[in-house]
Amino acid sequence: MSDETVNYGLRARSPDLLDTVPGLGKLKSACPKYIEKAEFAQKTARDFAKNEIAPRVLEIDQKCAADPAYFDWELWETANAAKLNITPIPEKMGGLGWSALDNAMLVEELTSACMGCASNITFNTFGLLGAMVECKTDIVLKIISQMVDAQRRSKPLFWSWAITEPSAGTDVEDEEAMATMRPSTHAKKIEGGYLVNGTKCFITNGSLAHYVIATIPADSAHPKESMATFFIPTTTKGFSVGRIERKCGQKASQTAELFFKDVFVPEENVWEPPGKGLRHTREILSITRGFIGIGGLGIARGALERGIRYVSRKKVKNHRLIDEEWVQMVIADMIKDINTVRCAGINFAMALDAYHVWKMFDSVPVKAGLKIVPEKILLGKSLQALAEKSMFSHAGSEFKKKFVSDEQIETFVYYGSLVKVAGTDLAVNITSRVADMVGLEGLSDQYGIEKSFRDAKVTQIYEGSNQANRIDIVKHALSKMGIKNLGVPDENKP
Ligand SMILES: Cc1cc2nc3c(=O)[nH]c(=O)nc-3n(C[C@H](O)[C@H](O)[C@H](O)COP(=O)(O)OP(=O)(O)OC[C@H]3O[C@@H](n4cnc5c(N)ncnc54)[C@H](O)[C@@H]3O)c2cc1C
Repeated sequence: MSDETVNYGLRARSPDLLDTVPGLGKLKSACPKYIEKAEFAQKTARDFAKNEIAPRVLEIDQKCAADPAYFDWELWETANAAKLNITPIPEKMGGLGWSALDNAMLVEELTSACMGCASNITFNTFGLLGAMVECKTDIVLKIISQMVDAQRRSKPLFWSWAITEPSAGTDVEDEEAMATMRPSTHAKKIEGGYLVNGTKCFITNGSLAHYVIATIPADSAHPKESMATFFIPTTTKGFSVGRIERKCGQKASQTAELFFKDVFVPEENVWEPPGKGLRHTREILSITRGFIGIGGLGIARGALERGIRYVSRKKVKNHRLIDEEWVQMVIADMIKDINTVRCAGINFAMALDAYHVWKMFDSVPVKAGLKIVPEKILLGKSLQALAEKSMFSHAGSEFKKKFVSDEQIETFVYYGSLVKVAGTDLAVNITSRVADMVGLEGLSDQYGIEKSFRDAKVTQIYEGSNQANRIDIVKHALSKMGIKNLGVPDENKP
């Protein structure tokens, strides 16, 4: 039996978006372009994952296991040539102009082949998202023009988002925990800017980054009240990279320790002043958590695809393993779970398009600006210089606040957490069930099933552990029911 005879996952006819979520047909009649573009994104991403990522994942995983600093530049260059690392940037500015729904298609397809490789291609957009949620016009324009320029010259341009510290992971993402955390980083106010010291750890792309966006408190005794967001070029004196972690999974994506020793950050690189850092983090999480959930969904789908291929070929006695009824029941359950989470992921992505930062691209001023202003000017220095003037610089932030309120951000953290927990628990559950179904050979490194299991486990821990995500879910849901101030009072504790 050849691979092509099992039409599932990467080997299915594409696009099959409407086959798996038929309810989108109604939306397709109302907004044909929106759904057609998502179908195009799905096909593009699936072809890329099948032809470029899948054939080399096991080799990349082994090379990274031997050397955590190994990076597959050939794969990155192919993705860069297809602009898959700058998908949300408007077409007029050199990107693909992909919606959140299109990006959900991209993430599911690429992660179904390899979560680590997918991170290297898509997570870099986090830098852009960091700028988008900030929404200061000059920063957005500067970052977009840098990313497009690098893409055109086929030069890597990596960003890292540094929140976690050796003494604080969950604490830096949660308001209550942050109030009592003991930060190991500190930003001291000096003339013209801040002097930053301390260590961040487990930072995705930290070893490759050209820029680090770091949340650091200005007052260690009051981290919540003084958390700020700094934009730090990694060429800055005093910045250095430590260990690249040897992780159980997602080995293709580098995770590193970062050191700051008297790193000077000028005032213009303070993205959020002391006191505003947590809000900025929450806003980023309100977008990224859901995409990690969709990544979990992709891992699950990829594992099931590998499992189905195996049981279709494996002979027991005189029949295929897939002919056993118990195997069919296990597969039916997994398809049911995968499709349920896919619907949740698609719902989340479409909500980002309807109510979050992607809505900006649909707004009249942005649409009109993109239509009227020539590409050269959009990416040119003169527009940036004009945007730097504080009146224009804040216009973007003010404009965005009109339709993405603080309350909406917390609602999206909630939606994102639902999808994150559902998708990443699904990933661990399905990869484990596929291994059970396949048996001993599922644990061998030749089918990619044990790799899926290792990759899946990581997703439950980052982007807020699933426990931290559950706390966000329950707090938000119960507060809507009027139940607040959760927790056993100190006097009732044993
Ligand atoms: C592959 C990978 C990539 C990563 N990339 C990045 C990155 O790019 N940038 C970045 O900043 N970080 C990154 N991280 C770090 C990640 O976000 C943290 O690991 C995560 O937030 C959990 O923090 P922690 O490991 O310090 O666990 P801790 O916060 O120490 O928590 C330990 C355990 O206690 C639980 N716990 C903690 N607080 C509570 C609470 N209040 N209530 C209930 N349970 C609680 C947690 O759920 C967990 O089970 C990455 C991690 C990995 C593994």
